[in-house]
Amino acid sequence: EATIEARGLRKRYGSTTAVHDLSFTVRAGQVTGFVGPNGAGKSTTMRMILGLDSPDAGTALVGGRPYRALGTPLRQVGALLDAAAVHPGRRARDHLLWMAHSNGLPVRRVDEVIEQVGLGSAARRRAGGFSLGMRQRLGIAGALLGDPPILLFDEPVNGLDPEGIRWIRGLLRSLAAQGRAVLVSSHLMGELEGTADHLLVIGRGRLIADTSVAELLAVA
Ligand code: ADP
Ligand code: ADP
Repeated sequence: EATIEARGLRKRYGSTTAVHDLSFTVRAGQVTGFVGPNGAGKSTTMRMILGLDSPDAGTALVGGRPYRALGTPLRQVGALLDAAAVHPGRRARDHLLWMAHSNGLPVRRVDEVIEQVGLGSAARRRAGGFSLGMRQRLGIAGALLGDPPILLFDEPVNGLDPEGIRWIRGLLRSLAAQGRAVLVSSHLMGELEGTADHLLVIGRGRLIADTSVAELLAVA
């Protein structure tokens, strides 16, 4: 099933414990907000889920398997980690073509995701001249390329104008409505209001709350 499972994840950098004994489940058909201040451990957790960083303890499973054990990762898990990750000299469409090619995905998907994220003809331009919002859209296009059932977005709202924020919120809702598991981080609790179905609140590497939003609102 399309889920993300973290079990007892721990990560230390020198004397800093970035993530301490973190366990949670991200369910299919929901937007799960991953909320906490800068430095709380959100990116570190996402990197461990994506196999980009190895935990000192614990395991992370995507669709029931470790990320590194997935045969065709982009078809199963899509991620926006760092909107600045694309080489500035590269044209956006060429970047996506390269991603598609190296993952055995058809070229037609490249043009589909370019339309889906609203990059349009800008996709022919070099990423170096892109605004942050356009880089976010490009990163999201890359995440959607393999049509994956599991998606992770690290701070996708950062630096976007109100129109971009509305667009991302709508996108997150529609991805969940299609039955996908969506994990999205933010350092601002309010940013995911009206978007997230479930909230994981993290502080200093520890999970402070793990609650459905409906439950939270019923209590408040
Ligand atoms: P968040 O994404 O919530 O802002 P991070 O996961 O980026 O938090 O960081 C959690 C903690 O781990 C912070 O104290 C940060 O400084 C530290 N950290 C993250 N990555 C590294 C790294 N590569 N080397 C050293 N410390 C790191
Ligand atoms: P490069 O080294 O050329 O920058 P990366 O491998 O760092 O390429 O990734 C480039 C783009 O692919 C980034 O936008 C990143 O968000 C996206 N990306 C990286 N890993 C994944 C993944 N597992 N699923 C989907 N998109 C990914």
